[in-house]
Order: sequence, then structure tokens, then C-alpha cells
Amino acid sequence: MRESTKVVRSTLTPAVAGREMQLGPVFAAPYHVPGDPAGVPYTYARAHNPTWTELERVLGEMESDGSFEAKVVVFASGMAAIAAVFGAVLRPGDAIVMPSNSYYTARVLLREYFVQMGIVVRVLDAEAELEKLLEGARLLFLETPSNPTMEVSDIAAMSEAAHRAGVLVAVDNTTPTPLGQRPLMLGADLSVASDTKSLSGHGDILLGHVAVKDAALLAKIDQWRTLTGGILGPMEAWLALRSIPTLPLRLEKSCANALAIAEFLGTRSEVEKVMYPGLPTHPGYAVARRQMRYFGAVVSFVLRDQEAAEAFLSKAELLTDATSFGGVVTTAERRAKWGGDAVAPGFIRLSAGCEDVEDLIADMAQALDGLPRALDGLR
Ligand code: PLP
Repeated sequence: MRESTKVVRSTLTPAVAGREMQLGPVFAAPYHVPGDPAGVPYTYARAHNPTWTELERVLGEMESDGSFEAKVVVFASGMAAIAAVFGAVLRPGDAIVMPSNSYYTARVLLREYFVQMGIVVRVLDAEAELEKLLEGARLLFLETPSNPTMEVSDIAAMSEAAHRAGVLVAVDNTTPTPLGQRPLMLGADLSVASDTKSLSGHGDILLGHVAVKDAALLAKIDQWRTLTGGILGPMEAWLALRSIPTLPLRLEKSCANALAIAEFLGTRSEVEKVMYPGLPTHPGYAVARRQMRYFGAVVSFVLRDQEAAEAFLSKAELLTDATSFGGVVTTAERRAKWGGDAVAPGFIRLSAGCEDVEDLIADMAQALDGLPRALDGLR
């Protein structure tokens, strides 16, 4: 059976006559626990909840590849999932190796909290430095493709190098989702994601998860969630379950739109650079083709300066100016307005939605055509 068929059908309950076809959310804080709690699956909802269990089963199937069964722990947001990886794995004196282009908030969390508690961050700027930085480290934390610059890391090769050095590997898999790329299958020990983006895809919830193969690692991540208590509600878990069967449809359409948009932008003289791993001209294209099923919905590109980017975004009627990505609606933003990422003032991160791509391209063409001449010295 193809992956997309499995995902579409993944939330169905067993075909028992009269039974509901999908589970609904379970709202409960305490559960009945008469006598000895040992072996009782649900006792108090900070630890476990049946709606999470269902979501974890569905995500686990997506993260697995047949040769192993991934186990998943769901969190209230992508950052809660990333914090769990850092908190469960790193101890004072440990070193984490992390590319300089990793998600900004994860870098700030390390710098402002974990470094203060004795964790050492080794910043990876070029793959050639990897072996040296891995020496004596505890964790390699990758993000591929990286947000927002869309750089691609070779998960299999880097995991092999890390394991040779006795280092665990975590991959932030937010942009592709586990349907688009399976880090555990490629050799990583932990796959972590913000499911706020394409996985849930409607811009209505925050959600994250961590997937692992190893039972000891699973227990640590699970314990971190119970002890820290920043859990997601059953309604959010259920909304995610409601969204997952349409993931193949949404991902296929938004990724096809992203590629068409990237190709279009490459034909325009106003655009200085286009970053999309699905373009054969992208430096990471060969690796992306090998390790990804879908190249993702995010296309980044650079206009000449801040004024050009702002004029473009205000003229484009179908590019909703908002942060985040991976929704059914196309969004775009001038990334440098937030600070934190080393990007040019005219850098735009666009997330292709599921609209008709001809409308999107026509809209972008009129917005580029309409850039004031004074700002458009390239023509
Ligand atoms: N990882 C990446 C690559 C992201 O882009 C984001 C959010 O933009 C996160 C993690 C954090 O996710 P959340 O906002 O769900 O906490």
C-alpha cells in the first residue's frame, strides 16, 4: 500500500459494527483508578490521554518504515518538543553541535537557558567541520531543509559520522513532515517537528512531536512531558487527527505549487535569488531528491531591498502577510522584520498553499510588474 493511502486511512477505527469510524476527543483530568495504579494506562491527564495516544499511533506509523516501529510523544508546540529533546538528552558539560542556520528560537533557548546550565553549543558552519565538532559531543541537532534559508543537510551521511563518534542525532523535520521525509529511516535517533505547520495545515493549532526508535529514549522524553506539564489539550490533538487524512492531498498540492512558484520566480529579473530544494539548481537538490518524498511548501527568495520586498507584499493580493507556514492559504513575509536570522533585508519567505497556482503566479507577476521603477534598477 502506498504511503498516501495509509495516511488517508490512518485515523479509522477497527471495522466493528456500530462503532464510530473515528475517535473523538476525550476530555478528562482524572481517570478511574481503583486500588493499585500499576498497569492502568490512564490515571491523570498530565501523563497520558487517549486522544494523544491515538495521535501518537498515527504519527508513529508515518515515522516508521516497516523495518522498525517509531514511538511518538506529542507536545503542545514544536518548541515544547525541541525543549524536551534538549532537556531529556543534555546534561551539564555535554556539547551539542548545531548548524548556524537552525531555527532561531531553538538557538535562543540553548543560548539563554541551556548554556547557562553548563551545556556547550558548537556551531556548525560548514559540513567539512563536522567530524572535528562531533568529537566528545552528546547531540547533533539538524534541521533540513532549514527555515528560512532552505539549506539541505545529508541526514544519512551526517548520522553515520555522528554515530561513529558516539553522538546522538536529532532532526527538526518541520518543513517536510514525516510524509515528506523520514529522519529515523535515514539514520537519525530522534525526529522532532512543529506540527503547527504542514502536518496540521490549517493554521488553527500549535502542536509538536518527538519520534524515536529507542525505548529508553522514549521513556525520557515521555517523562519530560509529564514532569514539565506543558501539554496539549485533547481538542488540539483531535483537530490534528481531523487534519491528517488530508495531509497527502495538501502536501502534494502545496509542494507542486511551491515548485511552480520557484520556477516562475527564477524567470524574473527582480528576483535576485530563489531558494527551493526542489529546483535542480539548488545546491542541495541531489541530497534532497534522495532523502525527501516532497520538497516542502516553503520557497524563499530575495528582492533587492526592504522597500522592494514591502512593496511586493503589499501589492500581492493572494499572499497573506503572516508568519508561520504550511497552511492551505498562501502566506509570505519579509523575514528580516523579525531579526534573528542572517538574511538580507529583501528576503521573503513564502509558504505555498493550495490555491490554483495560475492565480498565485498571475498575482505575483502583477506585484513584481508594479514595483516602482525607482526601486527596480534591475530592469
Ligand atoms: N522548528 C521549525 C523549523 C520551525 O519553523 C518552528 C516554528 O516556526 C518551530 C520549530 C517551532 O514550532 P512551534 O511554533 O510550533 O513551537
